[in-house]
Amino acid sequence: LAAALGTGDVEDLYELLEKLGSGHFGVVKRCRERSTGIFYAAKFVKTQRCRGSRLGLERAQVEREVAILRQLDHPSIMRLHDLFASRAEMVLVLELIGGGELFDFIAEKETLSEEEAIEFLGQILRAVEYLHARRIAHFDLKVPAGTPHPHSPRGCIPLPGHLQSPGRILPGFPPIARPGAHRQSPAPPVTPLRPASSPQPENIMLQEKDVPKPRIKIIDFGLAQRLEDGSTFKSLCGTPQYIAPEVINYEPLSTSTDMWSIGVITYILLSGLSPFQGETDAETLSNIVAGAYEFEESCFSQTSKMAKDFIRHLLVKEPGHRMTAAECLVHPWIKPLSQKQAVKRRLSSINMTNFRKFNARRKWKLSYNMVSACHRLCRMRLLCGLRKEDEELRCCESDQEEESSHPMLLLRRRRSSCS
Ligand code: ATP
Repeated sequence: LAAALGTGDVEDLYELLEKLGSGHFGVVKRCRERSTGIFYAAKFVKTQRCRGSRLGLERAQVEREVAILRQLDHPSIMRLHDLFASRAEMVLVLELIGGGELFDFIAEKETLSEEEAIEFLGQILRAVEYLHARRIAHFDLKVPAGTPHPHSPRGCIPLPGHLQSPGRILPGFPPIARPGAHRQSPAPPVTPLRPASSPQPENIMLQEKDVPKPRIKIIDFGLAQRLEDGSTFKSLCGTPQYIAPEVINYEPLSTSTDMWSIGVITYILLSGLSPFQGETDAETLSNIVAGAYEFEESCFSQTSKMAKDFIRHLLVKEPGHRMTAAECLVHPWIKPLSQKQAVKRRLSSINMTNFRKFNARRKWKLSYNMVSACHRLCRMRLLCGLRKEDEELRCCESDQEEESSHPMLLLRRRRSSCS
């Protein structure tokens, strides 16, 4: 971001209202712009005061999210309206998404045909096509992860044995990679960021729900990347149930990585089942690497062949062989070629009984706070604990100062100052 700063405090310009949600590094609150009366969502993100600090997200990471949001202008992608920054916090003033989570909306329906589900999927695909045409990958497309398994490990999860390299994994706190932190570097023994078993907020929401044709909105570009020509990008970030095999295998990532996630989302949407869910998180990851999934007859009996074909062309191990977003949009399931295909979609339905069960289970957030606290601790510790010299940096001023700093003393950064 350019350094030109305007003056002003976020609260001078916006009235802060109730909490809308929270992520790993802060909260999101509804707010009202004092000058216009328009409502927005203010996302507060704690940033590290210095490299290696235990508290907060690396500032460059938030700046990358902001820089990406600024390049985007699409009706199905959340817009950034304003930005404030202080030494220890950044506030992203975002378009308010008022329709709640897509899956909650769907779960309220008595019945849903594939045709109706495709209306949402088509919107997701058009937004993703837009992103990918700009060489931007989201890398965290997800609806919430499935059932919290009572016996699953909490906090950071170990990868399947063959992917680990003992010695670098701290007990209980396996190292975690940051996006971009491992460009062209050898594979580290790291593990994905998010515990598979914790209910995750979904990153696909609805602009408004009480309208005839609700519009989806993709949010949370925290892991998004602009892919540069000629350089490979590797990362182990993501949410286990949605990550592609190349993430786990620490191979180069591409826009195809998002297409795998769309395959998983479609599978869940149609059946209420998560395709790779194992008894444990490690098993889930092993299933992904092995590409082990099936269309269980009991859950897919009402599903059309075209829908299964669509998923089969996305849950492909080799990224280059997956359909692109543009190809998905002309797949006959999305864009029927004949009247017969169109009728099939209308008559095939979503397994609503299973879907509702899935949605109810995901609402089970009994241990959510504990999991996210553990996760936060894990991330903080690992982000600064990978190298010995970072140990010294841990004792920096930020850790004390962040606690006592006044979060609202934020300087405004004007939209135009960032490019
Ligand atoms: P994560 O920990 O998954 O990285 P995060 O810190 O990046 O999360 P977001 O996912 O952007 O935070 O937001 C957290 C939650 O806040 C969302 O799941 C959603 O419920 C709510 N939220 C975020 N942005 C908006 C918005 N623009 N309008 C309404 N609610 C929002």
